[in-house]
Formats: sequence, structure tokens, C-alpha cells
Amino acid sequence: MADGHERAAVSKATATYAAKVEETKAAFLDWPSGRGLLRSRKWEAIEHLDRFLEQFERHAEARGTRVHWAADAAEARAIILEICRRHEVRRVVKSKSMVTEEIHLNAALERHGIQAVETDLGEYIAQLRGEPPYHIVTPVMHLTKEDIDGVFHKTLGTPLGATAEGLAGTARRVLREAYLTADLGVTGANFLVADTGMISITENEGNGRLTSALPRVHVAVAGIEKVIPRLEDLALFLPMLAVSGTGQPLTGYNTLLGGPRQPSEPDGPEEMHVVLLDNGRTRLLAEAETREALHCIRCGACLNACPIFKSVGGFSYGTTYQGPIGSVITPHFRGLHEWKHLSYASSLCGACSDVCPVHIDLHHHLLRNRRDAVAAGSASAFEWIAFRVWAGIMRSPAAYRFSARAGRVAQRFSRMLGIEGSLLDPARAWTARRAAPTLAPESFRDWWKRTRGGRP
Ligand code: SF4
Repeated sequence: MADGHERAAVSKATATYAAKVEETKAAFLDWPSGRGLLRSRKWEAIEHLDRFLEQFERHAEARGTRVHWAADAAEARAIILEICRRHEVRRVVKSKSMVTEEIHLNAALERHGIQAVETDLGEYIAQLRGEPPYHIVTPVMHLTKEDIDGVFHKTLGTPLGATAEGLAGTARRVLREAYLTADLGVTGANFLVADTGMISITENEGNGRLTSALPRVHVAVAGIEKVIPRLEDLALFLPMLAVSGTGQPLTGYNTLLGGPRQPSEPDGPEEMHVVLLDNGRTRLLAEAETREALHCIRCGACLNACPIFKSVGGFSYGTTYQGPIGSVITPHFRGLHEWKHLSYASSLCGACSDVCPVHIDLHHHLLRNRRDAVAAGSASAFEWIAFRVWAGIMRSPAAYRFSARAGRVAQRFSRMLGIEGSLLDPARAWTARRAAPTLAPESFRDWWKRTRGGRP
């Protein structure tokens, strides 16, 4: 929060994004109906997930794609490493995929002597900086052009002062060489189309296409919730995702991959694999109340709208998925006890639920996570006692009046003696960086009694 440079970059990015989204949405005849329809399609897919996934597998395998099922991140990594071992892979190119971040694929490949090169420009910059993505759609939202110029200068030896076009040109030269020398390409999948067994990838740089088409082997990794029932549903999903994600009517490249190169086809990979990842998703599916979190299409709109995300930034979450959706799903994926604090990273203003194109009731899910964490005994003894005391005070007018008076006296003394914000301040964790609000010199009730006499 104290990094003004980062805050300015994030505010500029989110403000530009908000203006673009509003403008593009205005061109839709009936955006709310589109949201309703999108929600019903995802509901259908998630309610019948087993059936649609089996259908996807059947159709994909019929065209020569190998479908693998991974219960967790370790299994997914083992499947991919085994494919790499069989093909003696030394270099992998990757297009943007949050699910490969979730399974920490790059680190696993590096440990086995395989170089992984990110090809999405934002991901490539993040990789050069040795950082995870800052945002699920915009990996280097926190950087300015000048910051990126500095990164390229330091890591690629380019002269300082390059233009945006110059920087993009440098990345293009380096990455083209990587595509041509890679043995295997890894992509994510925006959608898994059940009735055709195809995967749909939507992106803006064409790097997903090159990653999946040029190397000998293509591996797509996708969470099981990415399945949609029918090919025709893409007519709704692709524009709704583009508008909510980047404010575009449609992203630049929309690719449908239906298997490895067929005998009659001139290009494409010799082998294609799809790894379907569970990694906690079936746990979420089993909970009727929070199941709808699996409807997420990872557009990132809730992050851009969230006042907390804009204030603390993507790295503060410490998770693969940041912002409101990350705070909702991470405790289910990684454990309620360790990750319950994320549910409190919300002002509960509801801005996230308002913008979500699939209508996920995000802020109420955060409340449910809080409730479940308390019910599971995750609250500390201090927290438990503090809230009981607070509830007792709020229930009793006499106790409320007494503590309000005591608070006023304590604040006056603390300020007089210079304790507030100092090492002696018991609330220092809060007051060291913020000014505590000044309590009113008298309560409304006292003011009424003094000026009008009697009870208000
Ligand atoms: S929860 Fe909704 S707004 Fe947030 S990323 Fe998912 S689809 Fe987008």
C-alpha cells in the first residue's frame, strides 16, 4: 500500500480498463440478459460436470488427443514430466495459463533440466523479473513502460529509452527463436467443448497459436471446471469473456484445437495431450452453497473492481488466484485454516459481484467462508474472546455507554502523552501506518441531554 509508484500504475490500468469495458458493454443490446444466459450455461456445465467431462474425453480421444486426469498438482506435474521424458524435451514454450501457475509447472520443469519460456508478453516480463503474475489476466499490471524498459535493459542488454514498439519487437525476436527450437508447447484452455472434444484458447498476441502449433508435442492443462456443453455456446462465452476481461468486443486470436495433426493436414503437433486437473475443485463441487464459484471464467473483472485489490495489489494475496475470486476459492483448494484470512480481504461492498459476467455472488461467499472458518474452530482464542466481549457491549446500552466514555478518555490521554502510534501503543499494528479516527467529544445522547434536556 505504501508503494506510490505501484499504486499509480494499478490505478491507471484499472481506470483505463473500466472506461473501455463500459464503452464496449454499451454496444450490447442487452448485457444483463447475456449475463443471465452465461450463468445458466455454466450452471448446466457444473451441475452435470461428470457427464460433460466424459463426453469431452470421448470426443477428444476419437480425434487422437490423449486425455489425462490429475487429482492434484503433483499428479499433473508427473504426467507432463513423463511426456517430456518420452520425447526427450529440453525446451518448452508456454502460453499464458494460470492453471500451470497453480501446479508450479515451471519450477518442476527447471528442476528436471528443462527450460520453460513464457511467451505471453506480460508473463515473459514477469518471468524475466522472477515474479509470479500480479493479476490473473494482466500479469504485469503493476509496471510502467519505463519499468519494463529497465527489465529488458538488465536482463536482455537492450539500450535504455526504448519505445513500446521497440520493447515488443525485442520480445518478438527472442520468442520467435524459442518457438522454433522448442520440443513441446504448453497452453491452458479457456474452454473445453464437450460436444466436439475441442479446446478453445482466446488471447491477444497469437502466442497461444504458435505455442500449440509449432512444437512437435502440445500439452494443454485445464481445470475440470473449464468444460462447456456445446460448441455454439462459444458464441456467448468468447465475447462475454473478452468484454469483461479486457474491454474488447472479442480478443484478437480465438483458436479451436481439435487434436493433433491429421494425415490430411499440413501443420500442427504430432501429439496432443489434455491434462484435466482437479486439485480441490471436486471439494468445491461437493459444497452446494459455494459450488457456483466453479462458474468462474477467469475474466479478472472482479479484481479490477475490488478496492482491496487496488490498494494492496496482487502479490499481497500470496496465492495463484488473486482478488475476490481468489479469496473465495483458495481456502477450498488449499485449506480453510491456513487461508481463511483472505475472506477478510474485502470491504463487502459487492462491487465484485456486480461486475462478474457469470453473476457469482462473490461477497456473500466471502462471508460464508468467514462463517465456516469460525465453525471449524479456526478463530484464535484472542479473536473468539474479543468478539464475545464486543457482542456483549453492543447488546447492553449501559455497557456501550461506559465503554464509549472509557474509549474517549483513553484516546485523549494516549494523544496527550504521545502514546498513539508509538511502541507503547497496544494498537500499534493499526496506528503505525494509519491515523486512528478521533472519537466524538460527546455522544449524541449526551449532546441531546445537554442541549434539550431529557432522553433523545
Ligand atoms: S469471479 Fe466473475 S468477475 Fe471474477 S474472474 Fe471469475 S468470472 Fe470474472
